[in-house]
Amino acid sequence: MRKEYAKMDAALLHQTNKKVILKLIKEKSQISRSELSRATGLTPPTITRIVNELVDSEGIAEYVGVGNSSGGRPPVIVKFKYESNCIIGIDLGATYIRGCLVDLNANFISEIQVPTEIERGFDSIIEKVVQVINKLQKRKEKDARIWGVGIGVAGLVHSETGIIESSPDFGWSNVSLREVLEKKLDVPFFYDNSTRLMALCELKLGERQNLKNFTVINFGYGIASGLVIEGNLVKGYAGFAGEFGHIVVDTNSKVQCKCGMYGCLEALASGHRIANRGKAEMENGNADLLKDLCNNNSNLVTAEQVARAAKMGDVACLKIYDEVSEYLCKGIGTIANLLNPQTVYIGGGISLSGQFLFDLIENKKSKYLLPANINVQILPSSFGEQTTEIGAVSLVLDKIMNLELSAKKIGFK
Ligand SMILES: [Zn+2]
Repeated sequence: MRKEYAKMDAALLHQTNKKVILKLIKEKSQISRSELSRATGLTPPTITRIVNELVDSEGIAEYVGVGNSSGGRPPVIVKFKYESNCIIGIDLGATYIRGCLVDLNANFISEIQVPTEIERGFDSIIEKVVQVINKLQKRKEKDARIWGVGIGVAGLVHSETGIIESSPDFGWSNVSLREVLEKKLDVPFFYDNSTRLMALCELKLGERQNLKNFTVINFGYGIASGLVIEGNLVKGYAGFAGEFGHIVVDTNSKVQCKCGMYGCLEALASGHRIANRGKAEMENGNADLLKDLCNNNSNLVTAEQVARAAKMGDVACLKIYDEVSEYLCKGIGTIANLLNPQTVYIGGGISLSGQFLFDLIENKKSKYLLPANINVQILPSSFGEQTTEIGAVSLVLDKIMNLELSAKKIGFK
């Protein structure tokens, strides 16, 4: 028994050392074996054995010759082999399906965007996802390998099982993405909620990766948040943390939310609400500029058109954004006073309305923040519309860096 424990400890120690070495090679891009030994305190033979595994078995590192010697044996240089190893990230949204093929440094190789056409139903949407993945697979270099596909979905997604327990945007409940996709594609899949992946994207690949406490708000046709506390992505007891859109911001409101409650932030400030308010203003004879933009057809009103009209000076549309930003600030105040984040990122389609939205938020936020939280920074997300798909990439990259995906398991030769 004791021997078995010793064996297990040795295997665990080996994996831990291997992770540390892989991380160092990735961070430095290229580094000598002797530097690895100095940085980790591991002996040169241990370093050589581990690096050889990363080169020969995993194929994610390579030897690139020897460096200059300052006396003694010249150092052997090892490099992170990011170019010929790829990941596919998918943002399965209610409006668009976006997919990207990237290398292990998240450099874009190819990107595809197709309309979701939600009204055509589950099978059609899955078929489109499969087509996007198939096309991206074909765009890799001949010898490159695809380690996995990360998928971000709007809704309550169980990250282990791939079951979408509920997605009001799609009208799905208890559907298994994993089951249908595994039948159609021969590549590992990983899933999570699209907003949590936006937070993972900022944490792992964003412009300010040193932040340990921040919130990402996905401000689109729905509203949700991804929370990072002390450097960890918060999932909650059952994986459904971050339902920021269902904070009640007006207890007297008669506007019912998709969740059944009244006066939720999502009911009063989402893209749907902005579009509906714009439509109503136009039908009441207001919003002349919006009327022009939509050719006097209220069915063509979208949140984006309301934003365009507001920027052009349409008073009714400016009033809509003024109200929406007020509600949003109430929500931000709640979350900032509760969690004390350093930064609140705002991403999602409506966040692209323009600087005027961020100016409105900046002007209103202090009403809802305690003095201790007044300096919270409110910034646009680092990658705009691509944040979720890059977050989906991070999900797979994390598995690779944690050695949870091995070349052997995937069947690479
Ligand atoms: Zn709600």
